[in-house]
Amino acid sequence: MNLHEYQAKELLKKNGAVIQEGIVATTPEEAVAAAQTLKEKYNSDWVVVKSQIHAGGRGKGKIEGTDQNGVALAKNHDKVKEISKNLLGGVLVTKQTGPTGKKVTKVLVAQDVYYPGESETKEFYLSMLLDRGTGKNVFIYSTEGGMDIEEVAEHTPEKVHKEWVDPSVGLQDFQTRKMAFNLGLSGNAFKEMTKFIKALYKTYMSTDASMVEINPCLKTSDNKILAVDCKLGLDDNALYRHPDLLALRDLNEEDPTETEAADAELNYVKLDGNVGCMVNGAGLAMATMDMIQLSGGSPANFLDVGGTANAERVEKAFRIILRDPNVKAILVNIFGGIVRCDRVAQGIVDAYKSIGDIPVPIIVRLQGTNAKEAKELIDKSGLQVRSAIQLKEAAEEVKKALA
Ligand code: GDP
Ligand code: MN
Repeated sequence: MNLHEYQAKELLKKNGAVIQEGIVATTPEEAVAAAQTLKEKYNSDWVVVKSQIHAGGRGKGKIEGTDQNGVALAKNHDKVKEISKNLLGGVLVTKQTGPTGKKVTKVLVAQDVYYPGESETKEFYLSMLLDRGTGKNVFIYSTEGGMDIEEVAEHTPEKVHKEWVDPSVGLQDFQTRKMAFNLGLSGNAFKEMTKFIKALYKTYMSTDASMVEINPCLKTSDNKILAVDCKLGLDDNALYRHPDLLALRDLNEEDPTETEAADAELNYVKLDGNVGCMVNGAGLAMATMDMIQLSGGSPANFLDVGGTANAERVEKAFRIILRDPNVKAILVNIFGGIVRCDRVAQGIVDAYKSIGDIPVPIIVRLQGTNAKEAKELIDKSGLQVRSAIQLKEAAEEVKKALA
């Protein structure tokens, strides 16, 4: 589960980090009121209006059909109103959203933190994630903040630093000092950076995050270190420990079909191919997708019905697959290890009966426990289902169905 920038920044603040302060608004009027409050509270003349969507690249992204960037500076209330009007209700297209973009329903009105002062402002990149190779958490950080870190890594890899933290030992002071030093800081900014890194680590650990990224992390002209942006990805498997974080979920940002599938305990990921697939077990599902590709089709989805697939769940899965207009054939590939094939077959028959006419060919491969009973069930039902025993036969059937 991902959080919005404003939610992630609040969590950072709670854990001791300084952030660019802001107020969320859902209408242009609220945005103007927010700008006024920020002016009074933080004495900031300018504000920045930032679209809240679950994707980065907003600063360079554009609202569809306009020239409005997803993040924009405003120096008076009229400008705040104008920008918020352009953003709210618009569809923001960025490098990360893909061409369909994401609808903006909230903006964060934030204080301008790039004010002139005694020294230069400087943007850094800071993130933390799990390094599966070493079984440790790793900070990835760079002096080259504010831009695409992938590009920095490609063209100037020497500017991307890493610092591994053993979870059984925790973050040590010498590590935060080393990082602040590698970022070229001294004096007060150095001290502030070590505090900021500790707050970042605390946020990551206490939320069971899978990733926290701050880009840019800013050194202000008066040597404060603060988060201008923050992306926080939470580990779904740990969410049961965090009801407060689960409450931050924004269903508008999720694919409604994936949400519905998750509620039915189906592991479903929408893809853009033409062969729908229903499989039990993630590994077999991956192999099935490869097989579809090899037979000249491309998978319309990943779908793992789980080890305890029952008739109800199979029907739900069919309905979800059929909602995709690109689907030209459906391949059901079940290996009955724990699940009984006849139960799945019954699900297919029931689904057929209750959905009515299924407009695309269905290829079924059922192997394992009660496979024979399953085949009988399907044959007796009179359904137009092509059944296959071997994986290779199933692939051939898919090819024929697409021809
Ligand atoms: P992203 O494009 O989705 O990563 O959104 P960010 O929150 O990182 O903002 C994009 C860019 O807007 C930043 O890299 C900054 O250069 C700029 N920006 C953000 N806040 C301010 C601000 O307070 N003042 C000024 N002048 N620029 C800002
Ligand atoms: Mn950013």
